[in-house]
Amino acid sequence: MMMHVPIFVGEGKLRYEDRPTPRIVRDDDVLLRIHASGICGTDLNILAVPPAHKAKPGIVIGHEGIGEVAAVGQSVTSFKPGDRVVIAPRLTCGRCEYCRRGLDNQCTDYQTIGTTLDGTFAPYALVPERALYKINDRVALEDAALFEPLSCVVGALARAPIHPGDNVCIIGAGPMGALFAMVARAHGAGHVLMSDVVPYRLRFVEEVLGATAINPAETDLKGAVTALTRIGCDLVIDAVGNQINSAIALARRGGNVLLFGLRPHDSPPVNQYTITRYDLTVIGAFVGLNPFVQTIALLESGLIAPSRLITHRLPLSELARGVELMRSGQAMKVLITM
Ligand SMILES: [Zn+2]
Ligand SMILES: [Zn+2]
Repeated sequence: MMMHVPIFVGEGKLRYEDRPTPRIVRDDDVLLRIHASGICGTDLNILAVPPAHKAKPGIVIGHEGIGEVAAVGQSVTSFKPGDRVVIAPRLTCGRCEYCRRGLDNQCTDYQTIGTTLDGTFAPYALVPERALYKINDRVALEDAALFEPLSCVVGALARAPIHPGDNVCIIGAGPMGALFAMVARAHGAGHVLMSDVVPYRLRFVEEVLGATAINPAETDLKGAVTALTRIGCDLVIDAVGNQINSAIALARRGGNVLLFGLRPHDSPPVNQYTITRYDLTVIGAFVGLNPFVQTIALLESGLIAPSRLITHRLPLSELARGVELMRSGQAMKVLITM
């Protein structure tokens, strides 16, 4: 059997090719029939010129897949055909210094489904058993499709918890910022303020999530935060990746600043004095330390419905258009359906 899939060829380009449908090779392989796969900021970065995230040319990208087990290798014991699964795409080595310390997300020798191994923008994907988690049928397919980005949010908030009544400011109202807002609401946050310069996103988070949306190009952000919170926010999240100074300015004294966005080519100067003088805690958080089971529990609880972020559903043949929609800020989350 063959499948017609987009192959990453480098330089921001995809080319559709006929590839054989993957077959079980290793004992721990699980063959998945993919139902849908979300487009991630990482995919946008992979397809940027120059790229802002590495991926191996010749592979199928995509890592936010939801699917069902079609076949399993000989040693697979946790899954059987028909099981509904989500994917934790980073495959750690289990041998490096960081893996040995239990700091899996800092593994120095990992592979990732959708950047170094064939991913989920395809009708079928071959994934090792250890990357898979079962998810029950009560979670709608489109909610389950946001498992991976949601897991990054759950993982990050494990490092900077939100308490009931906390005022939270999120800089960046893209899909990740919006997931932070949803989880903040579920945590019982007080004011949830979001800033962005893209009007589409601001309107979306205001109308769909009930966040207070602020465009810092039009409104004095600090003034708006102070007007609502008097002293600044308990937690400020930078979901952009170069907003550390705005984040520091918006935190209350003794507050937390969570740095989540990734901009490898930016290095903003840091206002160190403010951090020291006002007892701020600045926390970096990268994808989270094994947040997968908790993320599934959160989805299965029904407390949040991340599918509300899906604004577009496109067939696999229109992956490039989906990427363009997200890049132009005219979509929140785009889901590719198989
Ligand atoms: Zn992702
Ligand atoms: Zn490792």
